[in-house]
Amino acid sequence: MIPRMTATSDLLSRSLSAVWHPCTQMKRHETLPLVPIARGEGVWLYDLDGKRYLDTVSSWWVNLFGHCNPRINAALTDQLGKLEHVMLAGFTHEPVVQLSERLRELAPAGLGHCFYGSDGASATEIALKMSAHYWRNTGKPQKTQFISLQNSYHGETLGALSVTDVALFRDAYGALIRQNATVPSPDWRDVKHGESAESYAWRCADALAEHLQQHHEHIAAFIVEPLIQGAAGMAMYHAAYLRHARELCSRYDVHLIADEIAVGMGRTGTLFACEQANIRPDFLLLSKGITGGYLPLSVVMTTDEIYRAFYADETARGFLHSHSYTGNPLACRAALATLDIFAQDDVLNANRAKAAFFNRIAQPLREHPAVRNFRNTGMVWAFEVETPHADFAQRCFSLGLQHELLLRPMGNTVYFMPPYVVSEDELQLLVDRTVKVIESLR
Ligand SMILES: *Cc1c(COP(=O)(O)O)cnc(C)c1O
Repeated sequence: MIPRMTATSDLLSRSLSAVWHPCTQMKRHETLPLVPIARGEGVWLYDLDGKRYLDTVSSWWVNLFGHCNPRINAALTDQLGKLEHVMLAGFTHEPVVQLSERLRELAPAGLGHCFYGSDGASATEIALKMSAHYWRNTGKPQKTQFISLQNSYHGETLGALSVTDVALFRDAYGALIRQNATVPSPDWRDVKHGESAESYAWRCADALAEHLQQHHEHIAAFIVEPLIQGAAGMAMYHAAYLRHARELCSRYDVHLIADEIAVGMGRTGTLFACEQANIRPDFLLLSKGITGGYLPLSVVMTTDEIYRAFYADETARGFLHSHSYTGNPLACRAALATLDIFAQDDVLNANRAKAAFFNRIAQPLREHPAVRNFRNTGMVWAFEVETPHADFAQRCFSLGLQHELLLRPMGNTVYFMPPYVVSEDELQLLVDRTVKVIESLR
């Protein structure tokens, strides 16, 4: 038998030799070891040596009901015995039909048609293409531009990068990317002294109004992350912005694309973030949590009106987009099992109680002298840490691991986005350990 430590170091060196890890300067791993995960259970990940880590970021915002969830596992095992995959062009199957019907029932009324992709960036691409193609089919082919918010994130394929405004992800590829305009973000952290988040949202909406008034003839769609701009550092903003944006988009014949890839599936406290603004977007994008964090799947939901503009005798008027794994039955079954858990466990109400509990026990963080802008929406918490360390994020990550936490700050923004199955004891541990990490980084 290979001794344990040897098994770990063996896996790490093989990984560094053969795997190109995402969003990573690989050279950093000369000093920062990878974390080899052997198994997961609930909110915990276990490494090869049996050491555990609380998955406070739901494995990049995808997990909802814990790792190795027995109910999702059972649904997948059942599906594996029936049908693992079939192409969706010319064929159909029960899981994809059921999922489309159930999403239509749950989403804001009028989003009756589901188009499937395999990841979030593809959902963005699909929505951008569908929007521009709709205008082309309806006699407005000049509407080909898109707008997004400052600091927006909608994925990292070339089309998605054209509506992503995070310099780090964009700059190296600038020459390959189409230029689209951005408008001011209603990010609550930018309010002027004495101004409310709501009045700031209105002020930003005025800037959107001005932009649309001048450029609407060439704009196909406005794409937005409702309520929380995740990759901007969990920038939270007032729902009034979305209400105003909806009115403006309707007035100027511009589609509103709600990118709920990160914030959908209950993250903000309602199943879909748009519900809190009481609006219906023209496109609603889902991915990440849709399968409970099990399998890659994305959905673009849209309206009858948009669907009908493609319905014709000519192939070229139809929507042209193909993914090999569109509507994969296993992924759809995982999504159905995820929706079942929402219904069976009254998850949204349970989360409300959990969030209230966490806000009570988070006092030592909220009032910590190094913590700024402590904020919460639904099951997302974030704050900035005043720190002398330029490499704060990396230090925080490493120290977090020593305290059994998977923390993955963005710059000096620490955030928690735990799986919904997190218990009160685990939330308490999260607060206590995070305070320790911040203390040791002062
Ligand atoms: C993660 C994310 C995406 C991209 O999803 P991928 O599956 O990583 O391609 C798009 N939009 C938002 C808001 C996201 O958080």
